[in-house]
Amino acid sequence: MRRPIFTSEHELFRESVAEFCRRHVYPNLDRWREEGWTGREIWEEAGRQDFIGLAMPAEYGGAELADFRFNQVLGEELATASLAVNSALLLGIDVVAPYLLELTTPEQKERYVPDFCAGRLICSIGMTEPQAGSDLAGLRTRAVRDGDGWMLNGAKTFITNGTAADLVVVAARTGKGRKDVSVFLLDGGAEGFARGRKLEKVGQHEADTAELFFEDVRLPAWSLLGEENRGFDYMTERLPQERLSIAVANVAHAAAALEQTLEYVRERKAFGRAIGTFQHNRFLLAEMQTEVDAGRAFVDQCVMAHVEDELTAVDAAKAKWWTADLQNRVLDNCVQLHGGYGFMDEYRVARFWADGRVSKIWGGTNEIMKDLIGRSMGL
Ligand SMILES: Cc1cc2nc3c(=O)[nH]c(=O)nc-3n(C[C@H](O)[C@H](O)[C@H](O)COP(=O)(O)OP(=O)(O)OC[C@H]3O[C@@H](n4cnc5c(N)ncnc54)[C@H](O)[C@@H]3O)c2cc1C
Repeated sequence: MRRPIFTSEHELFRESVAEFCRRHVYPNLDRWREEGWTGREIWEEAGRQDFIGLAMPAEYGGAELADFRFNQVLGEELATASLAVNSALLLGIDVVAPYLLELTTPEQKERYVPDFCAGRLICSIGMTEPQAGSDLAGLRTRAVRDGDGWMLNGAKTFITNGTAADLVVVAARTGKGRKDVSVFLLDGGAEGFARGRKLEKVGQHEADTAELFFEDVRLPAWSLLGEENRGFDYMTERLPQERLSIAVANVAHAAAALEQTLEYVRERKAFGRAIGTFQHNRFLLAEMQTEVDAGRAFVDQCVMAHVEDELTAVDAAKAKWWTADLQNRVLDNCVQLHGGYGFMDEYRVARFWADGRVSKIWGGTNEIMKDLIGRSMGL
């Protein structure tokens, strides 16, 4: 289907991201899977190509392309290559960058944004804790006043880029009220800040996911992002972009798996004919193609709403859960259509299937998305 939201500038950008993937992502995937993360090289290369600081001002080394369609193109091409690489890089570009751009003082920008844009500053965001994920207001990490700064204690888990992070945006309780949460910038080398295990996941082996521990970590006064006790608002205001970014990846990932599967079912023969030509399989493939096109059309519309600063939290939640379901249905069918080969790790479709399962969980689970939508319906 033609996608009218893109101009020739976006299409040119797509070609440069596709070339980046061909040269710097695909050839390294097997090694990264073995090593358990991408290494710094991909960040620096993405920085050189101006991908990391897409929306950042030129004075800090950014590309000044504050049009989410560029993020979308980047996300689609990366998710087609590897959902893990997409999640590692876009966690910086789509999730952390808005904090660094919108909530920082000029001094904080000066300190962090040039290195971020250059791919020298790997970033994480720490919201989830061992005892609190969906119920974010239940977080227990606490920062208390200590002289003119703060003392941080607590733990985070499942943190993307956690082992490598040079900078962590950390959410911590700073008051007595349930939503008295503030957000801090924590330097990777701070005393008392320890990384736990790099977590062993069932998929996305080339992404680093870790536990973080804070024991009497002294935070200087200037490390507070924005205002004290406004962290909850800051996070909820930025979650729609994170969810949209995930929805973009979900559809692109499903589309890529479908494309690989189409090639397979045209070649693979059973009972003297290509397996794709059996009516059941032809119908299944037709249904998947229709759903991928429909999902993409909805996501494109959400992206345009976001470009016009009109994306609602409810529409972002719809896009996130529905595309995660779609992606997981498609991936499961694609594995089935590959037969036994679909369960073999050397087949991309098997890796896609394992990589995609988390989409219904992270960034807010499908149940939490439906809860948010249901509440908006007065329920
Ligand atoms: C690979 C990976 C990377 C991640 N990266 C990050 C990161 O970089 N930073 C970060 O902060 N977090 C990250 N997360 C955490 C992720 O966002 C959480 O796992 C997610 O929000 C769910 O929280 P939880 O795991 O505590 O599950 P829980 O909140 O314990 O939920 C367990 C189950 O209960 C259901 N449930 C909970 N409340 C309700 C309700 N009210 N109604 C109905 N059902 C409910 C959930 O839907 C789920 O099915 C990552 C997770 C993974 C797996």
